[in-house]
Amino acid sequence: MVEIKTDAALDAMREAGRVVGQALAAVREAAGVGVSLEELDEVARTVLTKAGAGSPFLGYQPSFAPTPFPAVICASVNDAVVHGIPTGYRLRDGDLVSVDCGAELDGWAGDAAVSFIVGTPRPADVDLIDATQRALDAGIAAAVPGNRVGDISHAIGAVAKAARCGMPTDFGGHGIGRRMHEDPHIPNRGRPGRGFPLRHGLVLAIEPMLMSGGHDDYYAAADGWTLRTTDGSRAAHIEHTVAITEDGPRILTLP
Ligand code: MG
Ligand code: MG
Repeated sequence: MVEIKTDAALDAMREAGRVVGQALAAVREAAGVGVSLEELDEVARTVLTKAGAGSPFLGYQPSFAPTPFPAVICASVNDAVVHGIPTGYRLRDGDLVSVDCGAELDGWAGDAAVSFIVGTPRPADVDLIDATQRALDAGIAAAVPGNRVGDISHAIGAVAKAARCGMPTDFGGHGIGRRMHEDPHIPNRGRPGRGFPLRHGLVLAIEPMLMSGGHDDYYAAADGWTLRTTDGSRAAHIEHTVAITEDGPRILTLP
């Protein structure tokens, strides 16, 4: 079921989203060569706790997962696309890290992700992150009343295709509100003019995941959570929670 939010609910979701944005900014600030993924999770936990926010990630166990998720962020490094569990792995020079974070505040959820490079960037990784950001920007630009979900999907897919990147097409964006995952599903590829009609008060998490090898194939690692590219190529994932409004897309997960 798709829930349309009131303007007061959008303002409340902005506060939940702000905590997510702040947590991701703090993680990015703390990340560096030698810093462990567990330490990054601790940084995000501190931001959530200080804001009085809960985590929709911690203890989350969707049908595909063998165990409840043990952290407040997903940390996916290099060939990991999404859903990486923060471990004791210490970041190395040139690593490409994608961090996904959620927050729950006053009964509302926010969900966002960033990708960045630790230390010396490889040009191909800079291009991959740039393409993923452009895919997100294109998806957000299509998130306006009168369009349909397929317009967002098509906008994202067109950027990924032009950049010759693959995508794990079983995963995509989603409605968000009281719960982190609500209807509708937002595929990262699709046909314009198709799907659920967009209107004021609909809130969506839009989240392109681009794989630089150009193939769509991925596999779940032994932990049952982490999705990795089959060809070993690097991946990036960037996400915002966005409200559709008559005044244009309102990004709710900026710091
Ligand atoms: Mg997310
Ligand atoms: Mg999401």
